[in-house]
Amino acid sequence: MLEVTSLRKSYDSFEFGPVDLEVGDEVLSVLGPSGSGKTTLLSLIAGTIDSDGGTISLNGNRLDGRPLQERRTGLVFQDGALFPHMTARENIEYAATDGDRIETLASLLEITDVLDRRPRTLSGGERQRVALARTLAANPDALLLDEPLSSLDAPIRRRLRGELYSLFESLEIPVIYVTHDQRTATALGDRTVIFRDGTIEQIGSPTTVINRPATPFVAEFTGNENLFDATVVERGEDAVRLRIGDVHLRATKTDAAETAVTVCIHPSRIRVHAPTDGVGTRRENSASGTIDRWLNEGDEYRAEITLDDAPITVTATIRPPHFERLAIDADSSVRISIRPEAIHCLC
Ligand code: ADP
Ligand code: MG
Repeated sequence: MLEVTSLRKSYDSFEFGPVDLEVGDEVLSVLGPSGSGKTTLLSLIAGTIDSDGGTISLNGNRLDGRPLQERRTGLVFQDGALFPHMTARENIEYAATDGDRIETLASLLEITDVLDRRPRTLSGGERQRVALARTLAANPDALLLDEPLSSLDAPIRRRLRGELYSLFESLEIPVIYVTHDQRTATALGDRTVIFRDGTIEQIGSPTTVINRPATPFVAEFTGNENLFDATVVERGEDAVRLRIGDVHLRATKTDAAETAVTVCIHPSRIRVHAPTDGVGTRRENSASGTIDRWLNEGDEYRAEITLDDAPITVTATIRPPHFERLAIDADSSVRISIRPEAIHCLC
């Protein structure tokens, strides 16, 4: 268990913290814009910089104030930072506490064939895996990764992401994985923490952070541009009725006590139907609208739809086969529908 309490660091123009965190034998992904303090968090835990206050403990032992060699935390950077004059094997041996583990790690990370090569002759993906092997060879009690995949091409990143997931699971130590890429944070994290200006904006499961963001900042940062002002017109036992313009929506119960709320609906949760599709009309929470424009993002289409009965434009993501069936043109009429549980009210 890695525990951080009231951790603080001041720079001339940046205040980090106070930050409180508990990380068990799990992967905590840290997501946040550039300059939000993600690297500072890892550096404070690893001991490459000193904190101005607060405590850090790992498995019950205080780390703060101890030199970095004694902390038993493994830190992996974006560029891997391998020694250029050593082969991959020598790099790993240099850090290893137990020479016997090198072959095991190499086969686990699929770098056995490149062990006798120098870093500059390796591909980006191979270099990152050697860097990870080097860090794991030291048998750390916690693993800290600072955007290790961000310099890699998308296909390699996707493949490594899959491999890392099973690797992290097998380690059974606290893993903190810093990224500014929401997909990586979601794919790898058991929990995700969103940083903003040096403090925690929200922490929760990746699904919670995406579908039930606590603040507009989190919503926008996780790719959710659907934030609308709505009025609560009726509160029931386990549902509320909302109104946006002349569109009435039923949503699951909200803790918000106010009448004026901000409603947040993830673009992937908005279903788009052909106007003639009876299902779209019969569904509750359905509305008609016009497609203003769309963007083909490869794995999905992102469509902007202006509603007929409310002064809002919603963004919906549509899977390619469905998009093609809809035969959408600019100015196409469509119906949208939203399940009540997909409507989230921000307080
Ligand atoms: P992130 O990793 O989220 O991009 P960082 O933790 O690297 O952010 O940096 C957070 C802020 O702290 C930035 O504004 C950065 O300029 C500032 N900062 C980081 N290191 C130093 C330093 N050694 N001296 C002064 N300011 C720093
Ligand atoms: Mg950083």
